[in-house]
Parts: sequence; C-alpha cells; structure tokens
Amino acid sequence: MQEQAPIVLWFRRDLRLSDHPALTAAAESGRPVIPLFIHDDIVDQMGAAPKWRLGLGLEAFKASLANMGSRLIFRRGDALEQVQRVMAETGATSVFWSRAYDPASIERDKKIKSVLATEGVTAKSFSGHLLFEPWTVATKSGHPFRVFTPMWRAVQGREVQLPDAPITALKAPVSWPASDGLSDCRLGGAMNRGARVVRPHVQPGERAALDHLEEFLDRIVQYSDLRDRLDQDGTSNLSEYLSLGEIGPRTVWHMIQRAALTGTRGTDAFLRQLVWREFAYHLMFHTPQLVTSNWKPEWDSFPWNTDPDHPEVTAWRQARTGIPVVDAGLRQMYVTGRMHNRARMIVASYLTKHLMTHWKIGMEWFEDCLVDWDPACNAMGWQWVAGSGPDASPFFRIFNPQTQAEKFDPDGVFVRHWIAEGHAEPGNTALSYFDAAPRSWGLRPDANYPKPIVELSEGRTRALRAYESRKPH
Ligand code: FAD
Repeated sequence: MQEQAPIVLWFRRDLRLSDHPALTAAAESGRPVIPLFIHDDIVDQMGAAPKWRLGLGLEAFKASLANMGSRLIFRRGDALEQVQRVMAETGATSVFWSRAYDPASIERDKKIKSVLATEGVTAKSFSGHLLFEPWTVATKSGHPFRVFTPMWRAVQGREVQLPDAPITALKAPVSWPASDGLSDCRLGGAMNRGARVVRPHVQPGERAALDHLEEFLDRIVQYSDLRDRLDQDGTSNLSEYLSLGEIGPRTVWHMIQRAALTGTRGTDAFLRQLVWREFAYHLMFHTPQLVTSNWKPEWDSFPWNTDPDHPEVTAWRQARTGIPVVDAGLRQMYVTGRMHNRARMIVASYLTKHLMTHWKIGMEWFEDCLVDWDPACNAMGWQWVAGSGPDASPFFRIFNPQTQAEKFDPDGVFVRHWIAEGHAEPGNTALSYFDAAPRSWGLRPDANYPKPIVELSEGRTRALRAYESRKPH
C-alpha cells in the first residue's frame, strides 16, 4: 500500500522543475505526487513586493505543472494542519520539501517533522537552495566561517553536485484534493497601485530565469569591469530567481564553470559573488541572530536613531533626501523592485552613517520593496554596511555619495534616469516613480528637488563623533 500512496511535495522557495532534488526523488519513486503550496504565517508576514512577486512566481509555476498534467494545490492556514489535511484527504504517507534556512522556517519545519514522525509519516527534507549545506563547510579547526575570503578559498576546489535533470512527468493521484484559488490568497494586495508600475520590470518563472542566465553568459566577459557601474547593465539580474528558487544555484554554478573551461573572462568574479550568497546563508544558519540583532553585540550601545517615523527616515524612504544618487537608488527599487548592488551600499551607508539610523529600519524597508528580497543576503548586506556584521566594512569608512556617483555614474546617466524634479523634460522612467509612490506622500514631479536634509560633511562628522565616543571594543 505504502508503495502506491501519494507523496505530498510541499513547495516553498523552490518553484522549479529542474535541479530539484526533492522533486527528483518524488518523481523517481514512481508514486503519485501532489504538489502543494501553503500560505501560512511565514508567507503572510512577507513584505509587499516580495509577496507580490511570489504570487507571480506561483502563477508561472502552476502553469508549468499544468503543462505536464499535474496541479499545484493551494491551501491557507497553519502549515502542519494543512499538510495533515491534504495527507488525510489523499491517503498520502510521505511529505518532501526543500530545506529553508531562516530561523522561523527552521523552527516550523522541525516541529512539523517531529509531529509527523509520531504519526508514522515520512517527512523528508532535501538540499537544493544552496551549493553547500551550511553544516558541510567549516574552517580547518571545524568552526563556521566568520570571514568571507577563507570560505571562498575553501569552497573553490570543492565538487558541486551536478543539477538534476528537469522533471517532465509526474504521476497524478487517483483524485486531486480541493485547492483554494491563488487569487484568494491576495499575495499582491499590499502593492496597491505600485503593482502596475513594477509589473513590466518583472519576468517570473523558470524559463525566464534560464533565459536571463543564457543572456548573461553572452556578456559575462564584462562582469568584472562593469559590475559596479550604476549606469550599465553589467550584472546577471538573477537574484530574484535564486531567491524564489526559480533557478537552482547548482545550475548557475555549472553553466558558469562550463564558460570558465573555455577561458571566458569574468567567471571567477561572478562565482565569487554567488559564494557571497552562500556565506550569507552560512552565517544565518550558524548565527541566526544575523536577521534580528547586531551580529557584534558591542554595537548594541551605539546611539542609532531607532524611530522609523523620524523625518529624516521618512525623507530617505520617500527618496527625497536631496542627495541625487541616494534618491535615484531608492527610486530604482520602488519602480523596478530591484536595486543595483552599488546603490544598495550607498543608500545603506547613507542611512546608517549620515543619518545614524539603525540598520534594521533600512533592512525592513528593503524587505517591503525588493522583489529579490532574501532573508540572508538582506540582513548580511545591511549589517555589513553598518559595521555591526561579520567581516563588515569598518564604520569609520563612510561612503561619500557624491564621490561614489562620480566614480560609478560618471556621466550622471543613472541619476538622470531616476530623478524627475528640476528637469524640463524628465523621462518616463523618472516619472513612473510618481505613479508608483503612494498618493498619501503627496509627491509631484514638477516640485523642486529638495535641498540635502543633512549636509554630507555634517552627517559624516556627526557619525564619526558618535563612533569615537562610543567606540565598540
Ligand atoms: P550579480 O552581481 O549578478 O551576482 C550574482 C548573484 O550572486 C546574485 O544574484 C546574488 O544571489 C549573489 N550576490 C551578489 N552579490 C551579493 C552580495 N553582496 N551578497 C550576497 N549575495 C550576493 N541580495 C539579494 O538577493 N536579496 C536581498 O534582499 C539583498 N539585499 C541587500 C541589501 C544590502 C544593503 C546590500 C548591500 C546587498 C543586498 N543584496 C541582496 C546583495 C546584492 O546587492 C544583490 O544580490 C545583487 O545586487 C543582485 O543583483 P544580480 O543578481 O544582478 O547580482
């Protein structure tokens, strides 16, 4: 009986058919497979843009499953309860999933595994979201890495498992369980009018992810030279696909390695960035406080502004700080759901240093606005910039946004692309910010561009003075 009982495949951030160890194992068992997605508390608490993007990813994935005669069953509510119900309704005796590594998911999954074990159900978790499981990478003395470069050196020579072949058929159960409608979940509800503006910038789904990777391979030779340029499309734009699991990191790794074998330039620099993602997950797994509190506790006494409604923070959120490159980066995020890595560093440095605002306030804003939001990369990025994180940039190294703009946007193309105020004929992209921003902010493209809310030299001096007087030891 067990041989024929269906397997429930609980999809989370792994919306793909290839390079998917849990799905491969389920398909190879020859048993019927019931793909399930649960809108539980963890999904419910996601920020507006990533939750909306998840909804688009689910629509695309549902269509891929339907193309091979399968279905994606949607359920809302407590994850354990929903898994139990679907199993009871279908006679399934096993549930498989791909591991997640954020503290809330780990706690949920552990609980579900132990309850199901007492009921005689096989609950099995698989790799797939990372190149290396966090517990398989360690320093020579057997400890987790706390610094990036030694981890990069340690993994460079390691074998990365080849990606599993795409699944093209799944055995259907004798009868399908009922499904809620995806639209009932209203995953995009909090985007309001912003959804219409961001939508043209997003191409969801596994096919789009592979297309992006192939297109990037044609220009990877320029990656090292262009990856920091704000005015160029020099990077892969793969982050949202990796974040939602619309592409697996092993697929990316091996396609890039194949290019490396032919001597293509840029491959090493790119793989290094992919390992930064691994480093973020390694840190989040071994030190879960990464996502909630200062990784270095000595920063707890630093006099950050912790008021999220402080007028300077409001100006930063509304991209009206009066510092053009900062406002341009923040507007790019609001309109496209993504922000250039260099711009992320500039706006984060400006908030945590010039405005002396706690990194968590910035992290939470990104969590609300980024379609590529990733719990590990976002937390590590913010703590790295603020100085409170592992292997962090020292606090006293304060980016000057103007110098950054001169270096990485030398002709002002990026800034002009995103700032409408003060221009007689602003472009459509710059204007679209005003269609995306909430009406309640009262922003107008024909208003004057604001004067700096804080003069750069004044902000820098203020931050350094605070740092010197409360210097963490
Ligand atoms: P590429 O340069 O093409 O890099 C390829 C892949 O490597 C990326 O898709 C990403 O998965 C990984 N990667 C690249 N840079 C980093 C990095 N610095 N840290 C970790 N992984 C990296 N990335 C997210 O995916 N989600 C986030 O929520 C996020 N928040 C960030 C917040 C701050 C304050 C900072 C400084 C960085 C953040 N990053 C985040 C990392 C980085 O900015 C993005 O991964 C990158 O801009 C995505 O663009 P890309 O795919 O074209 O990158």
